[in-house]
Amino acid sequence: MKKLTMLYEGKAKKIFDTDDKDYFWVEYKDDATAFNGIKKGTIQDKGIINNKMSAMLFTYLQQNDVDTHYVELINDREQIVKRLEMIPLEIVVRNIVAGSLAKRVGQEEGYELASPVLELYYKNDDLGDPLVNETHALAMGWANMDQIESMKKIALRVNELLTHIVGKARIYLVDYKLEFGLSEGKVMLGDEISPDTCRFWDIDTKEKLDKDRFRRDLGKVEEAYVEVYTRLKEVVEID
Ligand code: UDP
Repeated sequence: MKKLTMLYEGKAKKIFDTDDKDYFWVEYKDDATAFNGIKKGTIQDKGIINNKMSAMLFTYLQQNDVDTHYVELINDREQIVKRLEMIPLEIVVRNIVAGSLAKRVGQEEGYELASPVLELYYKNDDLGDPLVNETHALAMGWANMDQIESMKKIALRVNELLTHIVGKARIYLVDYKLEFGLSEGKVMLGDEISPDTCRFWDIDTKEKLDKDRFRRDLGKVEEAYVEVYTRLKEVVEID
């Protein structure tokens, strides 16, 4: 497959066309942003870690019958994915209270939820990705009922699979964001799974091992990304 013109440059990735219309070429960057782009910076080699970690976790999910866009790793920073028609919703899955949920419901960060929480956000940078619900998504035509049901089902399955593997690495999977798209009418998991999109806390020390180190200026950002990837690589079994 050949890498052709750049179609889109996002905050953390560049997307390129390929000579096959069904596939995109993705390049992961070291650029980091937070608070809807207000805070900007670079995290050394983040693109490498996120590309490789995402590839590993998507392979693990696929081997457990989750439909995803992931196809193959090209090199340290690049991978091939299936072209999806993106659904303009983000699903946040939460196992432990943190971040915006802590503020919204007045609960301390670290409170263990009795069951996973699923939230929908409308993907729109100008609006700062507002929290919405299923009736908004249906009424606005962002997704139909079947698609919403599929996204929820996949999100809960992903949560079972990821909490299992992350737990084996002595890490809590606190919360994370998933994105979905359609390929031949089928709902598939897209985007990435990395310390940019997940909150990971060390089970023993409660230390944050994710993008909150950048957001909150906690230092040792690169080291945290490497730590999570190294620990996960030891426990994820891929055929
Ligand atoms: N998240 C993300 N992209 C977004 C918003 C959230 O990847 O645009 C992830 C974030 O890293 C965290 C989870 O989703 O793991 C929940 O984020 P939250 O709603 O608490 O917002 P935040 O406090 O990160 O602004």
